[in-house]
Amino acid sequence: MMEIPEALVIARQINQILAGRTIVQVTAGQTPHKFAFYAGDPAAYPALLVSMTISQAKARGGMVEIAAGAATLVFSDGAAIRHWPVGSKRPDKHQLLLALDDGSALTASIQMYGGIWCFQGDDFDNPYYQVAGDKPSPLSEQFDSEYFMAILAAPGCEKLTAKAALATEQRIPGLGNGVLQDILYRAGIHPRQVVRLLDLAAKERLFLAVKETMTEMVASGGRDTEKDLFGQPGGYQTRLSKNTVGQACPKCGQVIQKESYLGGSVYVCPGCQPLSN
Ligand SMILES: [Zn+2]
Repeated sequence: MMEIPEALVIARQINQILAGRTIVQVTAGQTPHKFAFYAGDPAAYPALLVSMTISQAKARGGMVEIAAGAATLVFSDGAAIRHWPVGSKRPDKHQLLLALDDGSALTASIQMYGGIWCFQGDDFDNPYYQVAGDKPSPLSEQFDSEYFMAILAAPGCEKLTAKAALATEQRIPGLGNGVLQDILYRAGIHPRQVVRLLDLAAKERLFLAVKETMTEMVASGGRDTEKDLFGQPGGYQTRLSKNTVGQACPKCGQVIQKESYLGGSVYVCPGCQPLSN
């Protein structure tokens, strides 16, 4: 799933190649998908989007938001967004296709679940969308040590585990179960470690790990487990992911393990991320 680094990379790529392109044709909802969510009726999307010119794209947490004339188009984290150059074979299955005036196309396909939201003005009151715009990005200056410590000190957070605190309930929109793995590995903290048992030094390490891991992921073009606008994997080599499970940890030599935890797989190095009670 797209998270903050990939959303930033894809938004940048859209700005590089699609700014100034006009949308000439729109197909919304071609392939039925139970967990593809639209803003209102997708049948209204052509009327909202055709003849609009794409001005810019930006990341909003783990979402990509595109401004096109009077319309705003938002892809949430479960959408795979791809560009298809002139002459390339477009996919048969998709939940949105925008044909552009240069003959190329942009598609969105929903993986497990996700939103493809189009609206005019600010006529959209989805809580995930709102909170993703209201809270500061971990890459912003506003997201400083004080801000991070306040998240961990908020009522109820102390009894949560590190995974629950960082990657659930939109405390940090766009930080999901993907980037979480390398953040915790870098900080030396187990996903099941209870926040209350983290000392100040561990919390500081965690803060730095959020900043440094995200920065590195963006600089490398996103994670190698995700694809960019052109269908290419990112250049950031994930330390803990499906790509490294079963391998020896480069720091301590112990075998990287996979567990199911809180509705998703977590990857752990038992040597680097000891669990204390
Ligand atoms: Zn290790």
